[in-house]
Amino acid sequence: MIKLSTPNIEGAAIEAMVEVVKSGQLVHGEECLKFESELCEYLGIEHALVVSNGTAALHLALLALDIGHGDAVLVPDFTYPATGNVVSVSGAKVVPVDVDSETYCIDVDSLERIVTSWQGPENLRAIMPVHEFGYPADMERINQIAKRHQLSVVEDAACAIGATINGKKMGTFGDIGCFSFHPRKTLTTGEGGLVVTNNDELADRIRRFRNHGMERTERGMKFFFPGLNYRLTNFQAALGRQQLPSLDAWISKRKDLAKSYRNALQPIADAGKIRLPADNLGHSWQTFMIVLADKYDRDLLTKDLRDLGIETSLGAQSLTTLDIYPGVDVNGVSKLVGHELFKQGLALPFCEKYDDTIVEKVVSALSGLLK
Ligand SMILES: *Cc1c(COP(=O)(O)O)cnc(C)c1O
Repeated sequence: MIKLSTPNIEGAAIEAMVEVVKSGQLVHGEECLKFESELCEYLGIEHALVVSNGTAALHLALLALDIGHGDAVLVPDFTYPATGNVVSVSGAKVVPVDVDSETYCIDVDSLERIVTSWQGPENLRAIMPVHEFGYPADMERINQIAKRHQLSVVEDAACAIGATINGKKMGTFGDIGCFSFHPRKTLTTGEGGLVVTNNDELADRIRRFRNHGMERTERGMKFFFPGLNYRLTNFQAALGRQQLPSLDAWISKRKDLAKSYRNALQPIADAGKIRLPADNLGHSWQTFMIVLADKYDRDLLTKDLRDLGIETSLGAQSLTTLDIYPGVDVNGVSKLVGHELFKQGLALPFCEKYDDTIVEKVVSALSGLLK
């Protein structure tokens, strides 16, 4: 079976992790602190705080900004539900915004329309753009809109570590950036996540919320406010530290693989059977998702490909189609790009370990089935 993707954990990383386990220093500790300073260096940011997963990272961002009941947060319709769920769990209202049909990221014109015409009653507090599958969302315009309307910006860069705009890393454009180290992401610690910011005050709040609202002083534990336990373990940090030096090389391989897929798929795209994802110099290619023409049944195709030994999957969800967000619409528009991407999106086998042989097999199977 050609898997959708496989985590890249080599012998040295496993040994490093085992050493930490043997040391008995299991919870947040030295390895986490070292990982954090290496992540600061890699991302070019003041504060990096490792946490238990990407959803925890997003939740901590909202807690640090004191977003909750009576507030509203703008999120792209097409994303993993966690982006909306953290808003909802925090007590704030989820305001979905449609996405672009080729970048799959938040559509900035729609965003601007919704922000400009916002009537309340909730307080619009923040924009949470997602760098979907590693494609850098248009942060220049998003930050302009945020500034004009005094909104905070929390980047959901969960699947976009290493993605850039003009060399500047995604996650460092907004007030807070959030990452995931889930096995489906390019760098993985099993479960794991990261919150980054250049704001000292926000960093302090995030650090405390992560650890029961507590900090150790010379006299013992001091509890500043009620918090959570969203810490990463020391042995997970050891895994992450071993991968970080390879990350850029992996992304570079992913860019080559995306190019191969694009070339091989072009004839099928030209025939109007599929749409290819937008390319971008700073794309980190966590996932390569094509969009099938309406006449094809994505779920059936997924099953047929599986029978041929090829694992594919849907790309992401559309928040407005989920039962957990009833009656939520986007400015009264009933047909969203997000709906189409959710229904017709097909993520192809993709990771830095794959090469042109895999691309040939996948594209030839796909061509056959789309006849
Ligand atoms: C993976 C992902 C998350 C959730 O991260 P976890 O580590 O699984 O909690 C949130 N948002 C997006 C866009 C993601 O891709």
